[in-house]
Amino acid sequence: MGNILALCEFNGPTLRSSALANLAFARAAATAHGGEVIALLVGAGAQAASADAAKYAPKVIVVEDAGLAHYLAETYAPIVARLANENGATVVSATATAQGKDLLPRVAALLDAGMASDIASMTAKDTFVRPILSGNALSTVQISTPIVCVTVRQTEFEPATELGSAGAVTTAAAGAIDALGATFDRLDAQKSDRPDLGDAKVVVSGGRGMKTGENFKVLEELADLLGAAMGASRAATDAGMVPADWQVGQTGKIVAPNLYFAVAISGAIQHLAGMKGSKTIVAINKNKDEPIFQVADYGLVAEWEKAIPELISEIKKLKASR
Ligand SMILES: Cc1cc2nc3c(=O)[nH]c(=O)nc-3n(C[C@H](O)[C@H](O)[C@H](O)COP(=O)(O)OP(=O)(O)OC[C@H]3O[C@@H](n4cnc5c(N)ncnc54)[C@H](O)[C@@H]3O)c2cc1C
Repeated sequence: MGNILALCEFNGPTLRSSALANLAFARAAATAHGGEVIALLVGAGAQAASADAAKYAPKVIVVEDAGLAHYLAETYAPIVARLANENGATVVSATATAQGKDLLPRVAALLDAGMASDIASMTAKDTFVRPILSGNALSTVQISTPIVCVTVRQTEFEPATELGSAGAVTTAAAGAIDALGATFDRLDAQKSDRPDLGDAKVVVSGGRGMKTGENFKVLEELADLLGAAMGASRAATDAGMVPADWQVGQTGKIVAPNLYFAVAISGAIQHLAGMKGSKTIVAINKNKDEPIFQVADYGLVAEWEKAIPELISEIKKLKASR
C-alpha cells in the first residue's frame, strides 16, 4: 500500500490543464497501490491555487517560501523527495512538461527510485508503456524499486474530473533551501494572449513552406479567429521565422488538440511525433504526395497564399452570420 504524490503545476489560482492528466494517472495509480492521491503544489502562488487542486485530489500539500520564488530543479527536488518519504508515497508523478522532465529524474536520484519517463499508460502497478523512436514503437518498462518516479504524457490521459467534494489542504515547510550554487537569472518567455500551445484546443502550425516570418501573420490571423495557439515545424523555428517555443514535434512540444492545422508542413516523422494524436488534422500543402496527407483527416492540395485568405474570409462570413 502506498500513496501517489502528484506534482501539479499551476497558473495563477488554477491548475494548468496539463496537471489534470497527471491527476488522472495518479488516480489510476492510487487504485493499483491501494493508497490515495496527494496533489503537491510548490512555489510562489501555490497557496492561491490550492483550492482548485482540492477539487481534484482528496489531499493537497502546499509549499511556499521566499526561496522558491523561481523554479529551480536544485531547490525543488529535495522538497519533493522529502515529502514523498514523509507521506508514504510509492509513486511520485508529474506531467512530462519542461518542468516535469527537468525535475523528476533528480527526485528519482534522491529517492534511489526507478524512473519511467513520458509514459502513455500503466499496465500494472510497477509497469508502464512509453513511446520510443518518435512514437513508432512502444516500450514496456517494469520498475522494481520500492518508490517509482513517473512523468506522464499529457496527451495520453483524459483530464481528471472534479471529485465533487473538496480535499484537505495542508502546508509543509520548505526546510533549508540550498540551490547548490545555481541561481535564477531571468526567464525569457514569449508574452501572448493566445492559449498555451500545450493546453490549446485548436493549433495552427506553419512550416518551411511559409518562407518568411512575415508570412506567418496570415496564420496568426487564422489562429486568432479560432482562438487557437500557434505552432510550427522545426524547419520554421530553426530558420528563425517564429519563436523556438512554437516548435511541435519530437524535440518540441507534444500536442493533441481537437483541431490541428498543418500548413506548408511536409509531415516528417519527427513532426508527426508531436501532433499525430490530434483529434482532427487539417493539412494544406501544394504537393499532394507529402506524408502529412497520410495522417490528415482533411487534406487540401493548394498554395497557402490562396487557401488561407479564403479560409479566413469564409470564417469571418460565418461568424458575421451568427
Ligand atoms: C533528431 C531530429 C529531431 C527533430 N525534431 C523535430 C521536431 O520536433 N519538429 C519538427 O517539426 N521537425 C523536427 N525535425 C526536423 C524534421 O526532420 C523535418 O526536417 C522538419 O519537420 C521539416 O519541416 P517542414 O515540414 O516545415 O519543412 P519541409 O520538409 O521543407 O516542408 C515544407 C513543405 O511546404 C510545402 N510548401 C512549400 N510552399 C508551399 C506553398 N506555397 N503552399 C503550400 N505548401 C507549400 C512543401 O510542399 C513541403 O511539403 C527533427 C529532425 C531530427 C533529425
